[in-house]
Amino acid sequence: MSSAESPTVTLRKKPLEYEVTVTEVRQETHDTATLFLDFGGAAVEYKAGQFINIDPHQFPALRTLAAYLQEQKGRRELFRSYSMSSAPHESQVAITVKDEEFIPGITKYPALLAPYLIHGRLTGARIKVQGFMGPYTLPDDVQERTDHIVHIAAGSGGVPNFAILKDALHRGLKLRHTVLCSNKTWADMLFREELAKLEAGNPGTVRVLHTLTRETDESRFNDKVRKGRISQALLEELIPDKQTCLVYACGPAITAWDRRKAMETRTPATPRFMETVLGHLHTLGVDDKRIKRETYG
Ligand SMILES: Cc1cc2nc3c(=O)[nH]c(=O)nc-3n(C[C@H](O)[C@H](O)[C@H](O)COP(=O)(O)OP(=O)(O)OC[C@H]3O[C@@H](n4cnc5c(N)ncnc54)[C@H](O)[C@@H]3O)c2cc1C
Repeated sequence: MSSAESPTVTLRKKPLEYEVTVTEVRQETHDTATLFLDFGGAAVEYKAGQFINIDPHQFPALRTLAAYLQEQKGRRELFRSYSMSSAPHESQVAITVKDEEFIPGITKYPALLAPYLIHGRLTGARIKVQGFMGPYTLPDDVQERTDHIVHIAAGSGGVPNFAILKDALHRGLKLRHTVLCSNKTWADMLFREELAKLEAGNPGTVRVLHTLTRETDESRFNDKVRKGRISQALLEELIPDKQTCLVYACGPAITAWDRRKAMETRTPATPRFMETVLGHLHTLGVDDKRIKRETYG
């Protein structure tokens, strides 16, 4: 994870460990689910956009897979991070997890934790989490810095931005929000209905657009659902105020193992969502200091 500019605002310096109960696992899309977590009355203080860590070693069902992966990779499997999809004012704390597909010949290893969180029938389970962490949050003085937040997210990268948007609206911050989400297909669109409701309920304040890279049903496309990747032209259209907006970009970036492979094969790593979007923003003249970013993967 990395992030730029604005003071790092964390409510707690050292993450605390909580034992929480999974009260519900709600399927969001075909490969994404929201886990609602009951902290059992513990004081829960977090900022919209922050995340928790979950150690995969706590789950007996993952012991064999974790041991196998560790042997293959030659290192211990680490905790995984999950952004809260809930905002602090909401009664239930939630994370939203996207499955990691194993594609033979392309994906090197099967994913460890995400499939289990989604499909492991965890409703009622007690799990340990560490929280709350991360600087991907609105600065306290955000209204002095800007009147326009541009959310740019790919896949599960939409999770913290969804929380930030809900939080800013709830607190009545004088900010406009442009939300741009990139997904493969219509079926992959995370929080589609919730975002549409927030847009309808906040006219002139919230504008939502989607881009779909692999949708084959042409009838899905319109002015609000565009075809292809997030392009420079689209960002130019959505960001007239390049000197004053604040951008929150979240999604996949080149991974450490992409880099290792690039070194081995002596071919540059293919830019992913984050590198491409940052390139467009920089070309358009958005100062790097005005771009907050969080990378997954
Ligand atoms: C700050 C932060 C917040 C996040 N928030 C969310 C969120 O809200 N929702 C969400 O769904 N995800 C989120 N993530 C991503 C999440 O932490 C996990 O990375 C994701 O769920 C995958 O974990 P996994 O155990 O299922 O898969 P992993 O076991 O980590 O595998 C994932 C992929 O990496 C490949 N891989 C793993 N190790 C290697 C290796 N050594 N060499 C080559 N390839 C390898 C695997 O083949 C697989 O394709 C967040 C990440 C960060 C850093």
